[in-house]
Amino acid sequence: MNTTATPATTEQKAVQSFGPIPYGRQHITEEDIKAVTETLLSDYLTQGPKIKEFEEAFAKYIGCKYAVAVANGTAALHLNALALGVQPGDKVITTPITFAASANCVRYCGGDVVFADIDPDTYLLDINKVRALLEAAPKGTYKGIIPVDFAGRTVDLEAFRKLADEFGCWIIQDSCHSPGGYFTDSKGNKQFCGNGNFADLAIFSFHPVKHIACGEGGMMTTNNEQLYKTLLQLRTHGITKEQGTYINDISFAAGQPTDGEQYPGWYMEMQTLGYNYRITDFQAALGLSQLKRADAGLVRRRAIAAKYAAAFAGKNYIKGQSGSVEGHGYHLYVIEADNRLGLYNYLREHNIFAQVHYIPTHLMPYYKQFGWKEGDMPIAENYYRHCLSLPMFPTLTNAEQEYVIATINSFYNQ
Ligand SMILES: *Cc1c(COP(=O)(O)O)cnc(C)c1O
Repeated sequence: MNTTATPATTEQKAVQSFGPIPYGRQHITEEDIKAVTETLLSDYLTQGPKIKEFEEAFAKYIGCKYAVAVANGTAALHLNALALGVQPGDKVITTPITFAASANCVRYCGGDVVFADIDPDTYLLDINKVRALLEAAPKGTYKGIIPVDFAGRTVDLEAFRKLADEFGCWIIQDSCHSPGGYFTDSKGNKQFCGNGNFADLAIFSFHPVKHIACGEGGMMTTNNEQLYKTLLQLRTHGITKEQGTYINDISFAAGQPTDGEQYPGWYMEMQTLGYNYRITDFQAALGLSQLKRADAGLVRRRAIAAKYAAAFAGKNYIKGQSGSVEGHGYHLYVIEADNRLGLYNYLREHNIFAQVHYIPTHLMPYYKQFGWKEGDMPIAENYYRHCLSLPMFPTLTNAEQEYVIATINSFYNQ
Protein backbone atom coordinates (compact mmCIF):
# COMPACT_ATOMS: atom_id res chain seq x y z
CA MET A 1 0.00 0.00 0.00
CA ASN A 2 1.33 3.39 -0.95
CA THR A 3 1.50 5.44 2.21
CA THR A 4 3.22 8.42 0.66
CA ALA A 5 0.90 11.37 0.97
CA THR A 6 0.69 13.77 -1.94
CA PRO A 7 2.05 17.16 -0.92
CA ALA A 8 -0.72 19.42 0.28
CA THR A 9 -1.41 22.59 -1.65
CA THR A 10 -1.33 25.86 0.25
CA GLU A 11 -5.12 25.91 0.26
CA GLN A 12 -5.35 22.39 1.67
CA LYS A 13 -2.90 23.31 4.40
CA ALA A 14 -5.10 26.23 5.34
CA VAL A 15 -8.11 23.92 5.49
CA GLN A 16 -6.27 21.40 7.63
CA SER A 17 -5.31 24.06 10.10
CA PHE A 18 -8.95 25.17 10.44
CA GLY A 19 -10.89 21.94 10.18
CA PRO A 20 -14.42 22.07 8.78
CA ILE A 21 -16.15 25.42 9.30
CA PRO A 22 -19.93 24.99 9.71
CA TYR A 23 -22.48 27.81 9.30
CA GLY A 24 -23.37 27.61 13.00
CA ARG A 25 -21.98 25.86 16.03
CA GLN A 26 -22.87 25.59 19.71
CA HIS A 27 -20.38 26.44 22.43
CA ILE A 28 -20.31 24.38 25.63
CA THR A 29 -18.01 25.52 28.43
CA GLU A 30 -16.77 23.81 31.60
CA GLU A 31 -19.22 26.01 33.50
CA ASP A 32 -22.12 24.68 31.38
CA ILE A 33 -21.05 21.09 32.08
CA LYS A 34 -20.83 21.81 35.79
CA ALA A 35 -24.32 23.33 35.79
CA VAL A 36 -25.76 20.24 34.09
CA THR A 37 -23.97 17.67 36.25
CA GLU A 38 -24.96 19.49 39.44
CA THR A 39 -28.60 19.33 38.36
CA LEU A 40 -28.29 15.65 37.41
CA LEU A 41 -27.21 14.94 40.97
CA SER A 42 -30.03 17.01 42.48
CA ASP A 43 -33.48 15.73 43.46
CA TYR A 44 -35.07 16.81 40.19
CA LEU A 45 -34.53 15.66 36.64
CA THR A 46 -37.67 17.26 35.27
CA GLN A 47 -39.80 20.22 36.44
CA GLY A 48 -37.46 21.22 39.23
CA PRO A 49 -36.27 24.63 40.42
CA LYS A 50 -33.94 25.24 37.44
CA ILE A 51 -36.88 25.60 35.06
CA LYS A 52 -38.42 28.41 37.08
CA GLU A 53 -35.00 30.03 37.46
CA PHE A 54 -34.39 29.81 33.72
CA GLU A 55 -37.84 31.25 32.97
CA GLU A 56 -37.33 34.17 35.32
CA ALA A 57 -33.82 34.92 34.06
CA PHE A 58 -34.99 34.74 30.44
CA ALA A 59 -37.98 37.00 31.09
CA LYS A 60 -35.64 39.51 32.69
CA TYR A 61 -33.17 39.24 29.79
CA ILE A 62 -35.72 40.18 27.14
CA GLY A 63 -37.87 42.39 29.36
CA CYS A 64 -41.22 40.56 29.41
CA LYS A 65 -43.48 39.68 32.35
CA TYR A 66 -43.95 35.94 31.85
CA ALA A 67 -41.90 33.14 30.33
CA VAL A 68 -42.76 29.44 30.07
CA ALA A 69 -40.07 26.91 29.08
CA VAL A 70 -41.02 23.93 26.93
CA ALA A 71 -39.47 20.94 25.15
CA ASN A 72 -38.61 22.79 21.92
CA GLY A 73 -39.52 25.78 19.77
CA THR A 74 -42.06 23.81 17.76
CA ALA A 75 -43.94 22.81 20.93
CA ALA A 76 -43.87 26.51 21.90
CA LEU A 77 -45.49 27.47 18.58
CA HIS A 78 -48.09 24.72 18.93
CA LEU A 79 -49.09 25.85 22.43
CA ASN A 80 -49.19 29.49 21.30
CA ALA A 81 -51.60 28.60 18.51
CA LEU A 82 -53.74 26.57 20.94
CA ALA A 83 -53.74 29.31 23.57
CA LEU A 84 -54.92 31.83 20.97
CA GLY A 85 -57.70 29.44 20.03
CA VAL A 86 -56.80 28.50 16.46
CA GLN A 87 -59.66 26.34 15.14
CA PRO A 88 -60.07 24.24 12.00
CA GLY A 89 -60.52 26.58 9.05
CA ASP A 90 -59.04 29.66 10.76
CA LYS A 91 -56.76 31.62 8.45
CA VAL A 92 -53.36 32.76 9.72
CA ILE A 93 -50.74 34.74 7.77
CA THR A 94 -46.99 34.03 7.85
CA THR A 95 -43.83 34.31 5.77
CA PRO A 96 -42.55 31.64 3.39
CA ILE A 97 -38.92 32.35 4.36
CA THR A 98 -38.70 30.64 7.73
CA PHE A 99 -38.35 27.20 9.24
CA ALA A 100 -41.49 25.18 8.44
CA ALA A 101 -42.55 25.07 12.11
CA SER A 102 -43.64 28.75 11.97
CA ALA A 103 -46.44 27.67 9.62
CA ASN A 104 -46.98 24.12 10.88
CA CYS A 105 -48.31 25.27 14.27
CA VAL A 106 -51.41 26.56 12.50
CA ARG A 107 -51.89 23.20 10.79
CA TYR A 108 -51.56 21.34 14.12
CA CYS A 109 -54.76 23.11 15.14
CA GLY A 110 -56.44 22.51 11.77
CA GLY A 111 -56.07 26.13 10.65
CA ASP A 112 -55.16 27.31 7.14
CA VAL A 113 -51.77 28.89 6.47
CA VAL A 114 -51.81 31.89 4.15
CA PHE A 115 -48.38 33.00 2.99
CA ALA A 116 -47.52 36.62 2.22
CA ASP A 117 -44.33 37.56 0.38
CA ILE A 118 -41.18 39.03 1.92
CA ASP A 119 -39.58 42.46 1.64
CA PRO A 120 -36.65 42.13 -0.80
CA ASP A 121 -34.30 44.19 1.37
CA THR A 122 -34.99 42.87 4.87
CA TYR A 123 -36.17 39.35 3.87
CA LEU A 124 -38.91 39.74 6.50
CA LEU A 125 -42.67 39.35 6.06
CA ASP A 126 -43.72 42.40 4.02
CA ILE A 127 -46.30 44.34 6.01
CA ASN A 128 -47.74 45.84 2.82
CA LYS A 129 -48.44 42.37 1.45
CA VAL A 130 -50.12 41.45 4.73
CA ARG A 131 -52.22 44.62 4.61
CA ALA A 132 -53.27 43.86 1.05
CA LEU A 133 -54.49 40.40 2.13
CA LEU A 134 -56.38 41.78 5.12
CA GLU A 135 -58.02 44.55 3.10
CA ALA A 136 -59.10 42.20 0.32
CA ALA A 137 -61.18 39.98 2.64
CA PRO A 138 -64.13 40.64 4.95
CA LYS A 139 -63.00 41.66 8.45
CA GLY A 140 -62.55 38.60 10.65
CA THR A 141 -61.39 36.37 7.81
CA TYR A 142 -57.86 36.27 9.22
CA LYS A 143 -57.36 35.43 12.89
CA GLY A 144 -53.67 36.06 13.31
CA ILE A 145 -50.25 36.95 11.94
CA ILE A 146 -46.97 35.13 12.63
CA PRO A 147 -44.03 37.40 11.75
CA VAL A 148 -40.56 35.89 12.08
CA ASP A 149 -37.39 37.71 13.13
CA PHE A 150 -35.66 35.96 10.26
CA ALA A 151 -31.86 35.60 10.52
CA GLY A 152 -32.05 37.70 13.69
CA ARG A 153 -33.35 40.86 12.07
CA THR A 154 -36.19 42.16 14.18
CA VAL A 155 -39.62 42.76 12.72
CA ASP A 156 -41.08 46.25 13.30
CA LEU A 157 -43.79 44.94 15.59
CA GLU A 158 -45.14 48.40 16.37
CA ALA A 159 -46.33 48.62 12.77
CA PHE A 160 -47.62 45.04 12.80
CA ARG A 161 -49.54 45.66 16.05
CA LYS A 162 -51.30 48.68 14.53
CA LEU A 163 -52.28 46.66 11.50
CA ALA A 164 -53.35 43.64 13.57
CA ASP A 165 -55.55 45.84 15.78
CA GLU A 166 -57.26 47.34 12.73
CA PHE A 167 -58.31 43.86 11.65
CA GLY A 168 -58.79 42.15 15.02
CA CYS A 169 -55.83 39.79 14.60
CA TRP A 170 -53.48 38.37 17.21
CA ILE A 171 -49.69 38.21 16.72
CA ILE A 172 -47.27 35.37 17.50
CA GLN A 173 -43.69 36.59 17.12
CA ASP A 174 -41.32 33.80 16.10
CA SER A 175 -38.10 35.07 17.66
CA CYS A 176 -36.11 31.84 17.39
CA HIS A 177 -33.37 33.70 15.54
CA SER A 178 -33.17 36.73 17.73
CA PRO A 179 -32.94 36.50 21.52
CA GLY A 180 -31.43 39.85 22.52
CA GLY A 181 -32.27 41.46 19.19
CA TYR A 182 -34.37 44.63 19.10
CA PHE A 183 -35.93 47.27 16.90
CA THR A 184 -36.27 50.96 17.71
CA ASP A 185 -39.89 52.12 18.01
CA SER A 186 -41.37 55.47 16.94
CA LYS A 187 -40.54 56.99 20.35
CA GLY A 188 -36.90 55.95 20.06
CA ASN A 189 -37.14 53.09 22.57
CA LYS A 190 -35.39 49.78 22.02
CA GLN A 191 -38.00 47.02 21.81
CA PHE A 192 -36.42 43.65 22.48
CA CYS A 193 -37.68 40.55 20.66
CA GLY A 194 -40.39 38.77 22.60
CA ASN A 195 -40.78 41.53 25.22
CA GLY A 196 -44.56 41.32 24.90
CA ASN A 197 -45.12 45.02 24.27
CA PHE A 198 -46.61 44.40 20.82
CA ALA A 199 -47.02 40.68 20.12
CA ASP A 200 -49.54 38.66 22.12
CA LEU A 201 -47.08 35.80 22.39
CA ALA A 202 -43.51 35.13 21.28
CA ILE A 203 -41.40 32.01 21.06
CA PHE A 204 -37.73 31.05 21.13
CA SER A 205 -35.81 27.82 20.40
CA PHE A 206 -32.79 26.45 22.21
CA HIS A 207 -31.77 24.00 19.50
CA PRO A 208 -27.93 23.89 19.35
CA VAL A 209 -27.70 26.03 16.19
CA LYS A 210 -29.60 28.88 17.90
CA HIS A 211 -28.00 31.43 20.23
CA ILE A 212 -28.69 29.55 23.46
CA ALA A 213 -28.32 25.76 23.41
CA CYS A 214 -30.25 23.36 25.66
CA GLY A 215 -29.96 20.33 23.35
CA GLU A 216 -33.67 20.68 22.73
CA GLY A 217 -35.65 23.47 24.34
CA GLY A 218 -38.01 26.35 23.78
CA MET A 219 -39.50 29.38 25.53
CA MET A 220 -42.82 31.18 25.24
CA THR A 221 -43.06 34.78 26.42
CA THR A 222 -45.95 37.18 27.02
CA ASN A 223 -47.19 40.08 29.10
CA ASN A 224 -50.71 38.65 29.21
CA GLU A 225 -51.45 36.90 32.51
CA GLN A 226 -54.42 34.93 31.15
CA LEU A 227 -52.39 33.55 28.24
CA TYR A 228 -49.54 32.78 30.63
CA LYS A 229 -51.81 30.66 32.82
CA THR A 230 -53.20 28.86 29.78
CA LEU A 231 -49.68 28.08 28.53
CA LEU A 232 -48.68 26.67 31.93
CA GLN A 233 -51.63 24.29 31.85
CA LEU A 234 -51.20 23.24 28.23
CA ARG A 235 -47.54 22.39 28.89
CA THR A 236 -48.54 19.74 31.42
CA HIS A 237 -51.61 17.81 30.22
CA GLY A 238 -54.02 20.67 30.94
CA ILE A 239 -53.58 19.93 34.63
CA THR A 240 -53.69 22.42 37.46
CA LYS A 241 -53.41 22.00 41.20
CA GLU A 242 -55.49 25.14 41.72
CA GLN A 243 -59.09 24.37 42.57
CA GLY A 244 -61.16 25.14 39.53
CA THR A 245 -64.77 25.71 38.68
CA TYR A 246 -65.67 22.05 38.26
CA ILE A 247 -64.81 21.20 41.83
CA ASN A 248 -68.34 20.21 42.83
CA ASP A 249 -68.62 17.62 40.10
CA ILE A 250 -65.53 15.75 41.21
CA SER A 251 -65.45 16.55 44.89
CA PHE A 252 -65.45 12.82 45.66
CA ALA A 253 -61.88 12.72 44.30
CA ALA A 254 -60.86 15.30 46.83
CA GLY A 255 -62.33 13.40 49.74
CA GLN A 256 -65.43 15.59 49.75
CA PRO A 257 -64.07 18.52 51.73
CA THR A 258 -66.68 20.93 52.92
CA ASP A 259 -66.50 24.66 52.25
CA GLY A 260 -63.38 26.32 53.56
CA GLU A 261 -61.54 23.05 54.10
CA GLN A 262 -58.10 22.34 52.62
CA TYR A 263 -58.00 20.05 49.62
CA PRO A 264 -55.67 17.10 50.10
CA GLY A 265 -52.16 17.01 48.64
CA TRP A 266 -53.02 14.72 45.75
CA TYR A 267 -55.71 17.02 44.45
CA MET A 268 -55.46 18.18 40.86
CA GLU A 269 -57.81 18.87 37.97
CA MET A 270 -57.37 18.25 34.28
CA GLN A 271 -59.27 21.24 32.98
CA THR A 272 -58.38 21.10 29.32
CA LEU A 273 -56.70 18.81 26.78
CA GLY A 274 -53.01 19.55 27.19
CA TYR A 275 -49.73 17.88 26.31
CA ASN A 276 -46.47 16.85 27.87
CA TYR A 277 -44.22 19.53 26.39
CA ARG A 278 -42.03 19.93 29.49
CA ILE A 279 -38.32 20.66 29.36
CA THR A 280 -36.05 18.82 31.81
CA ASP A 281 -34.39 20.51 34.75
CA PHE A 282 -30.87 19.73 33.50
CA GLN A 283 -31.67 21.27 30.11
CA ALA A 284 -32.92 24.37 31.92
CA ALA A 285 -29.66 24.40 33.92
CA LEU A 286 -27.72 24.39 30.64
CA GLY A 287 -29.92 27.18 29.25
CA LEU A 288 -29.44 29.24 32.38
CA SER A 289 -25.67 28.84 32.16
CA GLN A 290 -25.67 29.69 28.44
CA LEU A 291 -27.89 32.72 29.01
CA LYS A 292 -25.08 34.29 31.06
CA ARG A 293 -22.99 34.44 27.86
CA ALA A 294 -25.83 35.50 25.55
CA ASP A 295 -24.84 39.16 25.42
CA ALA A 296 -21.18 38.38 24.81
CA GLY A 297 -22.29 36.07 21.99
CA LEU A 298 -24.39 38.85 20.46
CA VAL A 299 -21.47 41.30 20.58
CA ARG A 300 -19.30 38.76 18.78
CA ARG A 301 -22.01 37.96 16.19
CA ARG A 302 -22.40 41.66 15.42
CA ALA A 303 -18.63 42.08 15.03
CA ILE A 304 -18.53 39.14 12.60
CA ALA A 305 -21.43 40.66 10.64
CA ALA A 306 -19.70 44.04 10.44
CA LYS A 307 -16.57 42.36 9.12
CA TYR A 308 -18.48 40.46 6.42
CA ALA A 309 -20.38 43.64 5.48
CA ALA A 310 -17.13 45.59 5.11
CA ALA A 311 -15.47 42.79 3.14
CA PHE A 312 -18.30 42.52 0.61
CA ALA A 313 -19.17 46.23 0.34
CA GLY A 314 -19.05 47.26 -3.31
CA LYS A 315 -18.65 43.68 -4.60
CA ASN A 316 -21.31 43.34 -7.27
CA TYR A 317 -21.51 39.54 -7.01
CA ILE A 318 -22.69 39.64 -3.38
CA LYS A 319 -25.64 41.37 -1.80
CA GLY A 320 -25.65 41.31 2.00
CA GLN A 321 -28.72 41.59 4.22
CA SER A 322 -28.53 45.37 4.03
CA GLY A 323 -25.04 45.30 5.50
CA SER A 324 -24.77 45.61 9.25
CA VAL A 325 -28.04 46.55 10.98
CA GLU A 326 -28.64 47.92 14.50
CA GLY A 327 -30.45 45.52 16.82
CA HIS A 328 -29.94 42.58 14.47
CA GLY A 329 -29.40 39.32 16.39
CA TYR A 330 -27.37 37.76 13.54
CA HIS A 331 -28.41 34.19 14.06
CA LEU A 332 -27.51 33.93 10.37
CA TYR A 333 -25.41 36.05 8.06
CA VAL A 334 -27.25 35.77 4.78
CA ILE A 335 -25.92 36.91 1.43
CA GLU A 336 -27.48 36.79 -2.00
CA ALA A 337 -24.84 35.55 -4.42
CA ASP A 338 -24.41 35.17 -8.18
CA ASN A 339 -24.05 31.48 -9.07
CA ARG A 340 -25.07 30.41 -5.58
CA LEU A 341 -24.81 26.67 -6.29
CA GLY A 342 -21.30 27.10 -7.70
CA LEU A 343 -20.25 29.12 -4.67
CA TYR A 344 -21.85 26.62 -2.25
CA ASN A 345 -20.00 23.69 -3.85
CA TYR A 346 -16.73 25.61 -4.06
CA LEU A 347 -16.94 26.47 -0.36
CA ARG A 348 -17.62 22.83 0.50
CA GLU A 349 -14.56 21.79 -1.47
CA HIS A 350 -12.68 24.22 0.76
CA ASN A 351 -14.14 22.79 3.95
CA ILE A 352 -16.60 25.66 4.48
CA PHE A 353 -20.13 24.44 5.07
CA ALA A 354 -22.45 27.30 4.19
CA GLN A 355 -26.18 26.57 4.28
CA VAL A 356 -29.39 27.70 2.60
CA HIS A 357 -32.15 29.27 4.72
CA TYR A 358 -34.76 28.54 3.58
CA ILE A 359 -36.42 26.64 0.79
CA PRO A 360 -39.69 28.63 0.76
CA THR A 361 -42.25 26.84 2.93
CA HIS A 362 -45.08 27.30 0.41
CA LEU A 363 -43.10 25.15 -2.07
CA MET A 364 -42.77 22.21 0.30
CA PRO A 365 -44.71 19.19 -1.04
CA TYR A 366 -46.89 19.25 2.07
CA TYR A 367 -48.02 22.84 1.42
CA LYS A 368 -48.32 22.37 -2.34
CA GLN A 369 -51.29 20.07 -1.70
CA PHE A 370 -53.20 23.17 -0.54
CA GLY A 371 -52.66 24.80 -3.93
CA TRP A 372 -49.47 26.78 -3.27
CA LYS A 373 -47.17 26.80 -6.28
CA GLU A 374 -44.08 28.34 -7.79
CA GLY A 375 -44.77 31.92 -8.82
CA ASP A 376 -47.04 32.65 -5.81
CA MET A 377 -44.25 34.38 -3.83
CA PRO A 378 -41.90 35.82 -6.48
CA ILE A 379 -39.70 37.80 -4.09
CA ALA A 380 -39.20 34.89 -1.70
CA GLU A 381 -38.53 32.56 -4.61
CA ASN A 382 -35.97 34.92 -6.14
CA TYR A 383 -34.33 35.30 -2.74
CA TYR A 384 -34.17 31.51 -2.44
CA ARG A 385 -32.37 31.24 -5.79
CA HIS A 386 -29.49 33.35 -4.47
CA CYS A 387 -29.36 33.07 -0.68
CA LEU A 388 -26.51 31.53 1.28
CA SER A 389 -25.84 31.62 5.03
CA LEU A 390 -22.15 32.10 5.78
CA PRO A 391 -20.43 30.81 8.94
CA MET A 392 -21.78 32.85 11.87
CA PHE A 393 -21.21 31.78 15.47
CA PRO A 394 -19.44 33.44 18.41
CA THR A 395 -16.44 31.08 18.44
CA LEU A 396 -15.67 31.66 14.75
CA THR A 397 -12.11 33.01 14.83
CA ASN A 398 -10.88 36.04 12.89
CA ALA A 399 -8.54 33.77 10.92
CA GLU A 400 -11.41 31.45 10.02
CA GLN A 401 -13.58 34.35 8.93
CA GLU A 402 -10.77 35.82 6.84
CA TYR A 403 -10.32 32.41 5.21
CA VAL A 404 -14.08 32.30 4.42
CA ILE A 405 -13.96 35.79 2.88
CA ALA A 406 -10.81 35.01 0.88
CA THR A 407 -12.31 31.77 -0.42
CA ILE A 408 -15.48 33.55 -1.56
CA ASN A 409 -13.46 36.23 -3.31
CA SER A 410 -11.28 33.61 -4.97
CA PHE A 411 -14.41 31.86 -6.33
CA TYR A 412 -15.24 35.09 -8.15
CA ASN A 413 -11.57 35.49 -9.23
CA GLN A 414 -11.19 38.62 -7.14
C1 LIG B 1 -35.54 26.49 15.07
C2 LIG B 1 -36.75 27.19 14.67
C3 LIG B 1 -38.04 26.77 15.07
C4 LIG B 1 -38.29 25.47 15.80
O1 LIG B 1 -37.54 25.31 16.92
P1 LIG B 1 -37.20 23.81 17.46
O2 LIG B 1 -36.66 24.07 18.82
O3 LIG B 1 -36.20 23.25 16.52
O4 LIG B 1 -38.47 23.05 17.46
C5 LIG B 1 -39.13 27.55 14.73
N1 LIG B 1 -38.98 28.68 14.01
C6 LIG B 1 -37.77 29.11 13.58
C7 LIG B 1 -37.68 30.38 12.82
C8 LIG B 1 -36.63 28.37 13.89
O5 LIG B 1 -35.45 28.78 13.43
